[in-house]
Amino acid sequence: MRTRSAFIINSAKWLLLFTVLVVAPLALAVVGHEEEARGFWTEFGVGLGFVGLAMMGLQFVLTARYSKIGAPFGMDELLNFHGQAGYVAWLFIMGHFIILFLADSEFHKFLDPTVNLPRAVALSGVIAAVCALIATTYWREKIGLVYEWWRASHGVLALFVVFIGTVHIMQVGFYISELWQQIVWVGFSLGAMSMLVHNRVFRPLQMKKKPYKVVSVKEEVKETWSIELEPVGHEGLDFKAGQFVWITLGDTPFKLQQHPFTISSSPEVRDKIRFTIKELGDFTSKVGAVELGSTAFIEGPYGNFTMDETTSTHNVFIVGGIGITPTMSILQTLRERGDQRHTTVIYGTPSKEMTPFYEELKALSAELNLNVVHVFEEYDEEWEGETGFITPEIMRRNLPKDISDCEYFVCGPPPMMDVAEGALREWGVPVHMVHSERFNIV
Ligand SMILES: Cc1cc2nc3c(=O)[nH]c(=O)nc-3n(C[C@H](O)[C@H](O)[C@H](O)COP(=O)(O)OP(=O)(O)OC[C@H]3O[C@@H](n4cnc5c(N)ncnc54)[C@H](O)[C@@H]3O)c2cc1C
Repeated sequence: MRTRSAFIINSAKWLLLFTVLVVAPLALAVVGHEEEARGFWTEFGVGLGFVGLAMMGLQFVLTARYSKIGAPFGMDELLNFHGQAGYVAWLFIMGHFIILFLADSEFHKFLDPTVNLPRAVALSGVIAAVCALIATTYWREKIGLVYEWWRASHGVLALFVVFIGTVHIMQVGFYISELWQQIVWVGFSLGAMSMLVHNRVFRPLQMKKKPYKVVSVKEEVKETWSIELEPVGHEGLDFKAGQFVWITLGDTPFKLQQHPFTISSSPEVRDKIRFTIKELGDFTSKVGAVELGSTAFIEGPYGNFTMDETTSTHNVFIVGGIGITPTMSILQTLRERGDQRHTTVIYGTPSKEMTPFYEELKALSAELNLNVVHVFEEYDEEWEGETGFITPEIMRRNLPKDISDCEYFVCGPPPMMDVAEGALREWGVPVHMVHSERFNIV
């Protein structure tokens, strides 16, 4: 059961662990260290380097897609945190270089090619790599870097920084001089880097054993396609309604191209799995042309935008556009299970014609204790329902009087999610009662 205290304890536990691991290198450095301190700025600069490198190492853990690590927050929040932590790690690592460079001219030799060429090249490479990590993330779309190439280069650059950083610490050896300290550092770095290898090598090997076949491709509305996959030679995926997976289309799972999509069918039906995909960029705009019989691979499931653990008597979904996909999976599951819990769906779309699953939702309303409130931006004279964008007023009109009795699920375009989450926050709905899924993680 999700309770406020369980949510807070879980979140605090993970944050504490992250903080301890980030500052642990400082403790490791001072244990048994007997040499004299070298002045505040030097020690401060060195400390920034240790913490910055530890944060870089932990980035591999945050992005390793271990569902248990993301459990209390959700994968989108976890990756968001990874992004913020990346900026902080950059500040620490750059601070390390700048402060030491200014604090003592003795440190200039580290970047001086006439003193030690390989060292100067490697450390200048680290500065360039951490700056490139930040710049390509911040300006990826502006510089037209394709997502897949950005992701691949992100991993390679991060590996380079952690590897050279570890070698640098060993070579300087001022704080990490004992063999046991070196073993701990190298173990930490190898452990962190092996997560990337696990993600990019071991996982695809596992996926290769469980291929899927495309068995149907159907246009739901203009530029939105449902694609169904059938497991080949295995039982199919065990997932919770509302979860998502990473899909790779083609004969091998060892591809850069891998995209996250929510399953829009019910986990109660194991022989087929459906995804509903809106055309957006290079990959999604080709989904309608995928050939029947072609192979696909799935990594997952992930995410906690699920209703299995809720105990509320009334569940409210506030969704926009393609953000309906997890809701469809959940509603079908309620039907399969004969679950008559009170459910409200407030669903914003451009128009009735551009509403995926309009008819399916109508049919579900007849079978479930479900009220679907469509909100159309464009409508004809006959339409008497809600219009425009989803607003707090529209939400309030269609929610029960006692809003504290409900659990909320929000998924859709970022502006819609901001409005919905903001309104719920303002009305005092506790954070653990609001589940959000953002489709625009990096
Ligand atoms: C948890 C989650 C669930 C999703 N569920 C659905 C769904 O059910 N239906 C649907 O239509 N869309 C869904 N999406 C969005 C979908 O993943 C993107 O629209 C798709 O990956 C875009 O790829 P593209 O090459 O066509 O577009 P691009 O133009 O390459 O990318 C557009 C944007 O999509 C994001 N994106 C692109 N590739 C990836 C990737 N490999 N991994 C993560 N993000 C990426 C980036 O933010 C990028 O800026 C979901 C996204 C997430 C994170």
